[in-house]
Order: sequence, then structure tokens, then C-alpha cells
Amino acid sequence: MKRRKLLMIPGPIEFEPDVLQAMATPTPSHVAPNFIEVFGNSLELMKKVWMAPTGQPFIVAGSGTLAMDMAAANLIEKGDDALVISTGYFGDRFKDILERYGANTTLLKATIGDVVSLETIEQELQKKQYKVVAFTHVDTSTGVLVAPEPISKLAKKYNALSILDGVCSVAGEIIKQEDWGVDVVLTGSQKAIGVPPGLALLVASQKAMNAWKDRKSPVGNYYADWNNWLPIMTAYKKRQPSYFGTPPVNLIVALEASLKIICTEGITIRVKKHKKLAKAFQAAINALNLKKIPKTDAIAAHTLSAVYFPEGIDGAAMRAKMIESDVIIAGGLLPEIKSTYFRVGHMGSVSANDLLAVLGALERALVELGHSFEPGKSLQAFQSTYLQPNT
Ligand SMILES: *Cc1c(COP(=O)(O)O)cnc(C)c1O
Repeated sequence: MKRRKLLMIPGPIEFEPDVLQAMATPTPSHVAPNFIEVFGNSLELMKKVWMAPTGQPFIVAGSGTLAMDMAAANLIEKGDDALVISTGYFGDRFKDILERYGANTTLLKATIGDVVSLETIEQELQKKQYKVVAFTHVDTSTGVLVAPEPISKLAKKYNALSILDGVCSVAGEIIKQEDWGVDVVLTGSQKAIGVPPGLALLVASQKAMNAWKDRKSPVGNYYADWNNWLPIMTAYKKRQPSYFGTPPVNLIVALEASLKIICTEGITIRVKKHKKLAKAFQAAINALNLKKIPKTDAIAAHTLSAVYFPEGIDGAAMRAKMIESDVIIAGGLLPEIKSTYFRVGHMGSVSANDLLAVLGALERALVELGHSFEPGKSLQAFQSTYLQPNT
């Protein structure tokens, strides 16, 4: 496996060999007893990872955007008021999705690299009766981390349902869905859950399920309608055969494999590992005097880092040089600043070795492009931070 490229973008990520092996299973029938067991077990493991013992999990073929679409389609009726808190590209996308189902949206948009204050959110919630509050845990376009607990508590206080876009956070950041009272937590398979792209995953609270049951109008999306999927999830839970749309069986075998790895390690330990690696990586970036998009390290994600290219450095050339070193990182995503920054994913089975390889390649690329600093600086900062017992 010499010259194997290291995929360090914020999804799809590098996957565990056991997960990839599971993908290669001879495809079973979606009603084969062993597959029914895999599906049922995956639903149970999701509730553990989401920390939502009484939540209703859904596993549906699609990407993370379908999970957003499914939450909006089932919870929004024409004319409902929806508050969207945006910390980047994906918050803006949620606004568009909610509007597609007839929501009147209000967008509270953070300045780039910052979060929206709780005071601002509460002031807005006082203005009218919102049906839902949608927000992003980690916006992958900015690397900004939002604290979900106080926002979901505010939503609860003002009798609104909370929807958390956890596509870049579930299994990488701490989420206590039930404890925090979040009504929907959704993700896609290819990020911190660690499964190749193709699964939309979400867990809905009983309150969210009741709001859906109380709808006056039919769900405006046939494929996403919980009327079609809830009986399927219930059947698999009871280990009974069922059919609505053929599930992506190999992906679900892989999902069970990954959820088992996550739960065997323990979600709390796994989140701590993400934090430790992120802190060491942030220290390395600081050592190179590079500026991160999140205004402070307190609101910087632990699943990825978003960093401005140094002044005078051609970003495309830097990334191309890193590819020559077999390290693939991502460019920018937020339209306003797209060409000015890069992103490094550090979620899932990522290790300190992987991040040291990224930093080595980054340093070599910068030196070759004429950015002056003492080579090895970021590696040293990474190591010394990583070795601190409390990081
Ligand atoms: C990646 C991502 C999405 C979209 O997921 P897709 O699988 O690309 O559809 C939505 N929200 C966040 C926060 C993401 O990181």
C-alpha cells in the first residue's frame, strides 16, 4: 500500500477496514433473517450513539441532505414559522429546504467564523410562535461548533421543535439528544459515523413523532414521508420482514459494523479522542501562524478544521503540492470566502499519525511556495499538545 493517498477531507472520510469488508458482503435479501437482524441491531445502536433511548430512528437510502429534507417534509406544513440559525453554508441550505415545504423562515445568520448569541435567539423566539428551530452543530463550511444544549432548551421553553443538523458531528462531538431535549438529530453516513456515502440517518423524539401525527395536511414528499418509513423501521425493530423501497443492504451491513466499532470503543471515549486530536491540530495550525475561520478555539469543531491560506500563497497550488505528498485536503465551501481557505477533516478513525502526515505535507508545500517559517514547528506543537495528559 505504498503511496496510498490519505483522504483528509470532511467527508467522505477514511473508513475502517472492517467497514469496507462489510461492504463487500455478498448482497443478502432485504428480508433475509440475518439482514433483518443487522437492520434491527443498527436501529438499536443508533439510539445509543444519539443517546436517545426513547427516540425513533430512521435509516433511509440517501445523503445527509435527504435527512434534512425528511425532517422538514414531515414536520413542516404550509405557513408554519421556522427559525433557522446559520453558521455557514449548511444553515443556509436548511432555510431553502424548509421553504420548499411552505415554511415562513427567519434566518439568524452568524458573521463568518462566529455563532449567533443566545440572547439574539431568545429575542427572536419571543416575537412569534415558531413551529421549529433548525440549527447546525458543526457547519462543515466554516468549522464552527455550536453548543446545542442551550439552543434546544430555548426551543423547548418557547414550545418549538428543535432540529439539529448533526451531519458533521454525530459520533464525533458529544450529543445527548434526549437529555438536551433535541427533537430531531440527523446525519449522513460518510462523516463521523464512518460508512461510505449513501445513508440518511435520523432520530426523532416522541414529541416530533406526535407533531407529525397531528399534521392537518399530507407530507409533501412521497419518498421522505414517515407514513412510508415508520412501518418499515417498526418491522425491523420487531425483527419482521417488510418492504417499502429496497434498502441499500450492503451499506446497512457496513453501518452495523461501524456502529459496533463506535459503541465498543464507547461514544464518550470516541468524542474525547476527537477533541484531543483537534486540540493538537489547532495548536499546530497556531504554530504556523495560520488563521482559522472560527473566531476562537472554543467554537472550533473537533471533527474538522477550516484555515485561511497564508497571505500571498496560491491555495490551489498548495493543495496540488499536498496531493503530490499523497495527502488530500478540501478547499473552501462558503461562497463568500471560498477561494481563501482550506479544510482538513479529522473525524472517524483518524489517528495522530494521519494528522502528522497532513502537517508534514502542509509544511513542505508551504516551504516550496515560499512561505517562511521554521520547518517542523507544527509537528512539534502537535506532539507537545498531544502529549499533555489533559488535552
Ligand atoms: C455534509 C453536510 C451536509 C450534507 O450532507 P450530504 O451527505 O452531502 O448531503 C449537511 N450538513 C452538514 C453540516 C454537513 O457537513
